[in-house]
Amino acid sequence: MAEDEAANLLISGKTVAAEDVIADGKGNMRHIIRHISRFTSSDGSAAGIIGVLTDFTDFKQVTQALEASEGRFKALTESAMDIVTVLDEGGVIIYQSPSVMHLLGHDPQEMLGRSQFELVHRDDAAAMRGMFRELIEHGEMTQPIEFRVRTKAGSWRTLESIGKNCLDIPEVRGIIVNTRDVTDRKAIQQRIQHLAYHDALTNLPNRSLMQDRISQAISRAERSTKKFAVMFIDIDNFKNINDTLGHDVGDELLRQVATRLTDSVRAHDTIARQGGDEFIVLLDRLEGHQGATRVAQKILDALRTAFSVSDADQHVSGSIGIALYPDDGHDAPTLLKNADTAMFHGKAQGKNTYQFFTPQMNIAVKRRAAMESNLRAAVKNGDFSLVYQPQIDLNSGEIVALEALVRWVSAQSGTIMPSEFIPLAEETGLINEIGQWVLREACLQAQRWLDAGFPRRRVAVNLSARQLADKQFVGLLASILDDTKLDPSLLELEITESQVMRQGEGSISRLNEIASMGIQLAVDDFGTGYSSLSYLKRLPISKLKIDQSFVRDITIDPNDTAIVVAIISMAKSLDLEVIAEGIETAGQLTLLRAKGCRMGQGFYFSVPMSANDLAPLLAASSVFDYSLAVPVT
Ligand code: C2E
Ligand code: MG
Ligand code: MG
Repeated sequence: MAEDEAANLLISGKTVAAEDVIADGKGNMRHIIRHISRFTSSDGSAAGIIGVLTDFTDFKQVTQALEASEGRFKALTESAMDIVTVLDEGGVIIYQSPSVMHLLGHDPQEMLGRSQFELVHRDDAAAMRGMFRELIEHGEMTQPIEFRVRTKAGSWRTLESIGKNCLDIPEVRGIIVNTRDVTDRKAIQQRIQHLAYHDALTNLPNRSLMQDRISQAISRAERSTKKFAVMFIDIDNFKNINDTLGHDVGDELLRQVATRLTDSVRAHDTIARQGGDEFIVLLDRLEGHQGATRVAQKILDALRTAFSVSDADQHVSGSIGIALYPDDGHDAPTLLKNADTAMFHGKAQGKNTYQFFTPQMNIAVKRRAAMESNLRAAVKNGDFSLVYQPQIDLNSGEIVALEALVRWVSAQSGTIMPSEFIPLAEETGLINEIGQWVLREACLQAQRWLDAGFPRRRVAVNLSARQLADKQFVGLLASILDDTKLDPSLLELEITESQVMRQGEGSISRLNEIASMGIQLAVDDFGTGYSSLSYLKRLPISKLKIDQSFVRDITIDPNDTAIVVAIISMAKSLDLEVIAEGIETAGQLTLLRAKGCRMGQGFYFSVPMSANDLAPLLAASSVFDYSLAVPVT
């Protein structure tokens, strides 16, 4: 203390206090407060001055640390992306961090004094209040709560909050709520969820979601008397369009089909894409099965109207299988399976129909599955044989050709006729292997007959459209002829009229290649397939085989006579050979000859027989004596 300062103090008698920093004995700086006052003697005169030094270094350090931490806390809350809100026990905002401006556009100052619930979406308000109550009662939240809040601009954001009750902490006296914006995260989650349960091409629900919906429909139906139906829909000719016109056209067609299906049902029904060209419809809240019938018919009609895909009209039809709850199943998998089975049956009966499930269908499905595996085994083991049926020149009675007909020789069931397994073989594609074997065996046999000295006669082999659709077929045919050394002009291939009609351009060009190899082509079962003359003229065929259904009643039904006469005259004008199938009686034969039919085939002449059994007949110069008959003109 300076001397004049001390003198002043003695005179004034004031106490002086000052803060100072001094070094202690060890050279450490200490914060001190110095109090200096005058003291007097008993007569009141100044006796001297007294100084008291208080060391407050430790206190100073604590306050400095506190100030720093408060500043840090403030900086943290004010710069955080999350919103920090402090509420009083009534839910009124008493502190709002500035990030509310950035996230919701609200001025933090304006928020003070407002209720926390004011901006919350009406549908989320109850949950928010519940959470707040829990906070007041239990102090903490175990789970964050999600809710929607209106921004200043009027749009909605989804926020997630977690709160802590700090009402008892004197420094806070509020409920601290930490809130973050989860709108984008939520949108991504919803997108992922959507993708998991929807078909990417059509945006319809997928099979998983459909199963869910069926389960929900089951719980609903259990509580009411209402039924519901599950429909399985398959687009009949989709594969064809997809294969010939490409996947882009196929995809576009499927999208349009999805739209038409959606337009055919009520809003509370569900349509799903099962995959490929298969769709599932859930018709909820039905009174009875008439409702399902109506919708099925509506869907078939909707599908039958032409689709316009990349500037061309495409025609499809649908096959529908229907299973009803509770009659045809009590759970989603059974209902779906039975609807599928019914659809499959409908398709087999002829496309463009709907079928309700019946328990017999399952028996048929099992039988079919067993038959398919047996047929596969038969193909592997080569359990087939050929029989041959002669084709007769109706003028001379001579055999001109032999039609090869396949038989499945089963160890269990004996001889199985083609009508029982060819359709299955065609469906499963096994026909390609079977047909290949038939072709090779028939050519071998024709060559064996020649080698044995029998006259030159053609062998006719039945061909399935699926074989013809195979791009490898022409090459295969050439290699069989090559291997068996058979003259191609001794081979004739038969393809049914209905299958000829359904050929695409690829198959037609293949028919031309086959004809140019010198092989004859015949149209089988002619008269049943509604082919047009102009179409027939485009094809390289040389023979029409009149279907046996017309021959059967030719002597009694004038309509059949008229049809046969028309086919014969048409064949003549197109310069085609014509042969009548299924001749069983002399009466049929006489009438056919009278109408100018020059060739015939049927039980009247010979049933189909094995090559061995046929040998005596093949050796005879003429099967029947026509010397007395009037020649066919
Ligand atoms: P399809 O080619 O029209 O053969 C004629 C069918 O009529 C044969 O039956 C034959 O036995 C039968 N039939 C012959 N004459 C008479 C008759 O006077 N009266 C009656 N009621 N029927 C007669 P099958 O052998 O049962 O063959 C049935 C069909 O199976 C064939 O009809 C043909 O479409 C198909 N098929 C036979 N073999 C093959 C083959 O190797 N490949 C293919 N893709 N189909 C074959
Ligand atoms: Mg035939
Ligand atoms: Mg036929």
